[in-house]
Amino acid sequence: MPKRKLLPKKQRVAAILAALDEQYGTEKICYLNYNEPWQLLVAVILSAQCTDARVNMVTPALFERYKTPQELGEADPKEVEEYIHSAGFYVTKARNIIACCQRLSETYGGEVPSQLDELLTLAGVGRKTANVIRGNIYDEPSIVVDTHVKRISNKLGFSKENDPEKIEYDLMKVLPKDHWILYNIHIITLGRQICVARRPKCGECFLAEYCPSCQCPAQPAAEASGASAVTEAAGAIAVGTGPETAEAITVAEASGTSAAGTGPETAGAIDSAEVSGGGAAC
Ligand code: SF4
Repeated sequence: MPKRKLLPKKQRVAAILAALDEQYGTEKICYLNYNEPWQLLVAVILSAQCTDARVNMVTPALFERYKTPQELGEADPKEVEEYIHSAGFYVTKARNIIACCQRLSETYGGEVPSQLDELLTLAGVGRKTANVIRGNIYDEPSIVVDTHVKRISNKLGFSKENDPEKIEYDLMKVLPKDHWILYNIHIITLGRQICVARRPKCGECFLAEYCPSCQCPAQPAAEASGASAVTEAAGAIAVGTGPETAEAITVAEASGTSAAGTGPETAGAIDSAEVSGGGAAC
């Protein structure tokens, strides 16, 4: 297979972002439904290992029953579990949501804090959730590394890391700040529609000419095997593009911070964890 020359990294990043903007627009959208900030926080906690669509089916009744963080913070865990049962990991999620709302109510007067370090003290909240809140509620430039962002950022050669926090820092260096929030929204859409985990549709992908992992025969990626490494002309970064390890749950939320739920309702319980395998959460 002939080698395909990629643009130098800086130009390639710019071309990818421009293509994403053109394809998907620049409107900031959130796939989780909510009316108030604390509801988005609860929805994101629920989205661990669960699709956004499922979360959106669960939350209307939950928010109808519990109308404020205080009410949810004082709720009976068993009752909350019933409301959120279909979102999975319901024992841990119920505990986290209740503990989180308790803290919102008691420490923050029912408001959702804006600072990362404060958000990270809430049960069930890790960097992903905190960045969703900062981006969507406070419009603070923040990069949410969910399952799609993790996988596709590796494919695009923006990071070769596996750890979401390291990927987040890599992306901060690569992406201009005005695209930190949009990047996540765009990549979620790309990951759902084209660069799907099991079989990326490279032949249909508008990023094919810029993507070092493109498997399209017409535009073969440099060394077009699934586990190739791509050396960029300019920055000479080598990017492993091997099959992303199963979309397994990788993210454990910083334990030292939030702590509420620990009940293992299933083996390998999610702890007070954000999980990157499921809902993309905005
Ligand atoms: S070219 Fe293929 S691997 Fe690259 S982003 Fe598009 S679908 Fe994903």
